[in-house]
Parts: sequence; C-alpha cells; structure tokens
Amino acid sequence: AKDQGKNRYQFFNASMDEQIMLKTNLENGLRRAIELDELSVVYQPKMELNSKRIIGAEALLRWKHKKYGSISPSTFIPLAEETGLIVKLGDWVLNEACLQLKKWHLEGMDDFSVSVNVSTIQFLQKDFVGKVENLLIQADLEPNYLELEITESTMMDIKLVVAKLEKLRKLGIKISVDDFGSGYSSLSHLKNLPIDILKIDKTFIDEIENNKSNAAIVSTILNLARNLSLTVIAEGVENEKQYEILNEKGCDQIQGYFLSKPMPAAEMITMIEASSET
Ligand code: C2E
Ligand code: CA
Ligand code: CA
Ligand code: CA
Repeated sequence: AKDQGKNRYQFFNASMDEQIMLKTNLENGLRRAIELDELSVVYQPKMELNSKRIIGAEALLRWKHKKYGSISPSTFIPLAEETGLIVKLGDWVLNEACLQLKKWHLEGMDDFSVSVNVSTIQFLQKDFVGKVENLLIQADLEPNYLELEITESTMMDIKLVVAKLEKLRKLGIKISVDDFGSGYSSLSHLKNLPIDILKIDKTFIDEIENNKSNAAIVSTILNLARNLSLTVIAEGVENEKQYEILNEKGCDQIQGYFLSKPMPAAEMITMIEASSET
C-alpha cells in the first residue's frame, strides 16, 4: 500500500510537470505564432433582422500550432492575457481585420461592418487610440464600419474608460458591449457610457424558447436599449425557434450557428450573395 501511494504521488508529480511544460510550450509557441504564420482570422456573419441581410461579421482569432494542431481561443486567449502577449496578438487581429474589411469594401460589399474583440489589457494601453487611428489611415477605411467589442468588465473603471471610449467614438468607430448581461454592471450604469451596441450574452439566448426568465431578461434589455437608442445583437443563436422569438421581440441583429459558424474571409462573399438572393 505504501508503494502504491508513492507511485501515485510520483504520477501526480509527473502530470503536474507535464501540465507546466505544456503551458510553457504553449506560451513559447504563442510568442512565435505570428512569425511562424500560425495565426488566422475567421469571420462569423451577423444578420440584420429587418432586412434579413448579412450586414457584418465578427473577427475571431485562430491558432494552428505546428505540433499540437488547432488550439481553442478559450485556451490561448487567457494565456495571452496572463502573459501580456494579447497586446501583440490583438494588434495583429485588428490590423488583419481592417485590411480584410477594406478588401470587402473594394469588392463591392461597401456597407459591410467588421467587429474586433479587444481585451482589457489591450484597451488600457496608453497608445491604443493612436494605434487604431493609424490603422484606419493605413487601411484607408471608413471608420463607421469598424466596431470594437469590449466586455462589460473592461468598462467597470468608469473614469478612465469613458474618456477613452469617447476618443474612439470621435474617430467614428462604433463601440459594442460584448457578453452583455454576464457581468455585474447595473443597467443604469449604461447611460453613462458612450457606446453604440449591446451584444446580449449567449447564456440568455440559450433556452430562450423554454426559459421564461431568459425571455424576460432579453425583453428588458431590448426595452432599455430602445430608450437609450442602442443597437442590440443577440449572440449564440442556434436554432429557428430562437431566431423567431428574437425577431418577434424586435431584436436588431443576430449572430450564431443558426446562421453560420465562423468562416475564412474567402467564403463570406458566397454567403452574402446567397442571403441577398431571397
Ligand atoms: P466571444 O467574443 O464571446 O465570441 C463568441 C464565441 O462563441 C466564439 O468562440 C464563437 O465561435 C462562438 N459561437 C458563435 N456562435 C455560437 C453558437 O451559436 N453556439 C456556440 N456554442 N458558440 C458560438 P471562439 O471563436 O472559440 O472564441 C472564444 C472567445 O475567445 C471569444 O468569445 C473571445 O472572448 C475570445 N477571442 C476570440 N478571438 C479573439 C481576439 O481576436 N481577441 C480577443 N481579445 N479575444 C478573442
Ligand atoms: Ca465577441
Ligand atoms: Ca460574446
Ligand atoms: Ca463570450
């Protein structure tokens, strides 16, 4: 029994070592992912419910490691945030997305929008607004087609954040509150924020067809948004029933597997042509 215990202990240690090594490997890999050309951006379409048109897409980062294959953002984004690498990665995504959006505009999709996720650390950088401004100039992009998705938790520190959001909006770009409802910010807090779009968190859309309180929360958010003249998008819409309920409630836009999973940029035009044929 004593031996067994010892073995188990050693096994436990080995697996801890493995975990630490894996993490260190991943971190080193992530550090070099840009130069090794292992990163890409995929785009998930958004539909405007009034017109049933695909009017934009969210840019989502993908990482394909040479040895480990595809690694989920839910694994590498937190690691990138922990290590500060998110600043470099986030800037890379923003640049890619702006260049792609310009391409789409030149290809005739001239009122298409793209949203890009921005981490707190990235947003709080001193020169973030300057970087965004430079990107807009370099890509020769009309700013009102670029949206930045910022989570509720980033917006907690009111004073610092409001000034920065105002500067970004002065550039002409739009601000979207990501995962809305999942954080702790009060609804009244919203009216003090210079924002354009609320993105209702997937957890409220899940089961909206069966769960009365989810349906009530979504209605409340929609009412509030109307009063504040904000656009509302529902994320994580997976089935027709959810789509119909959101349509009835007067939600502005939807995004989710019901429409499409995220896709490479090259596939977007086909998707849009198909959606505008009806
Ligand atoms: P998020 O910003 O909330 O993005 C939505 C996530 O939900 C995406 O996962 C998307 O693929 C997934 N999704 C969309 N529709 C559905 C649906 O109908 N059902 C289900 N089950 N999932 C759906 P993804 O791409 O794995 O990204 C996960 C998270 O990683 C993102 O959540 C975001 O927080 C972060 N992330 C991804 N790319 C970036 C980036 O470029 N920068 C930063 N800072 N974060 C990123
Ligand atoms: Ca997002
Ligand atoms: Ca989200
Ligand atoms: Ca989320």
